[in-house]
Amino acid sequence: MSLEDHLTARIRADGPMSVADYMADCLLHPQFGYYTTRDPLGAKGDFTTAPEISQMFGELLGLSLAQAWLGQGSPAPFTLAELGPGRGTLMADLLRATRGVPGFHAAMQIHLIEASPPLRAAQAKALEGYAPQWLNSVNALPDQPLFLVANEFFDALPIRQFLRAGDGWSEKRIGLQDGALAFGLSPAAPQPALDHRLADTREGDLVELCEAAAPILHAIATRIAAHGGTALIADYGDWRALGDTLQALRAHEPADPLQTPGEADLTAHVDFEALALAAKTAGCAFTRLTPQGVFLERLGITDRARALAAPLQGDGLETLIAAHRRLTHPDEMGNLFKVLGLYPSQAAPPPGLNP
Ligand code: SAH
Repeated sequence: MSLEDHLTARIRADGPMSVADYMADCLLHPQFGYYTTRDPLGAKGDFTTAPEISQMFGELLGLSLAQAWLGQGSPAPFTLAELGPGRGTLMADLLRATRGVPGFHAAMQIHLIEASPPLRAAQAKALEGYAPQWLNSVNALPDQPLFLVANEFFDALPIRQFLRAGDGWSEKRIGLQDGALAFGLSPAAPQPALDHRLADTREGDLVELCEAAAPILHAIATRIAAHGGTALIADYGDWRALGDTLQALRAHEPADPLQTPGEADLTAHVDFEALALAAKTAGCAFTRLTPQGVFLERLGITDRARALAAPLQGDGLETLIAAHRRLTHPDEMGNLFKVLGLYPSQAAPPPGLNP
């Protein structure tokens, strides 16, 4: 039995499935899921991420969070949380960078929200000595001040895809054609969750909807609004999504999302407007959506790179220069990736982001 066999049987039994149900099975099926069965990161894996490119990313996010914590009066105890921590690299860099922040480490309780057993093991190794606790859901986060980071987490959440059809929407579904997985369309129907998109779309436009994101945002924003805290959410995407952004990556190359299910990473661009609106509903303030390059420059990534470069030469120096460029340059990750901050409405926004 493979994931493809499981999907085929599921479609034969229940009919065509939404892109979201397909993504959820591909990424997190308990037996065959992409994340459940492997550590996909790094040069030998399928994709790489900002914290894996350079220690500077986690250090600067950590210092921004710690400054926000100081600015809110150093609340203790507080939750230091990460969503989808991958190999634990960002958290390890954040913790190293904040060692000198008076009281921060003594007051923090580290909580990691992670669905993948192999990645939980990698995180335990990277964070040895810090006694993190793992949770399956943000709903289990303690009711206390919450300082949280999430990098490339929301892009892994399942999305549904809809094509505008008159005043309704046809949903893209995955069914079978000659025994193979194939895309199809459901009959057009009204979609109340997409009412706000009737004004800015035309016949045939494709809109994506991530139903899993709002409840997660709501749980985070409720805690920040009630007890204080800050969230830094980094991902690729934009304010309001338009067009098909479902993407499969295998061995660092784009792949067909319906080929080799469970063997390729599947992601979609994040609709940051939907995240911000969920935060607002919970009474939490949000910052302006800011390109990653701008955010990192404001936090002093170039000074940090100079300091790290001082003892280096040759390959080491070249690697550092390339990493700085990759994280910040508009032609690389600097513009495609964005950062959104959440903070209590009576507090200042986290350093690097503006209201
Ligand atoms: N933040 C890391 C890893 C990004 S990959 C980095 O920047 O390197 C996405 C991460 O989210 C992985 O750790 C994956 O296992 C986790 N993940 C994906 N979907 C999840 C879900 N629904 N619940 C919890 N963790 C999830």
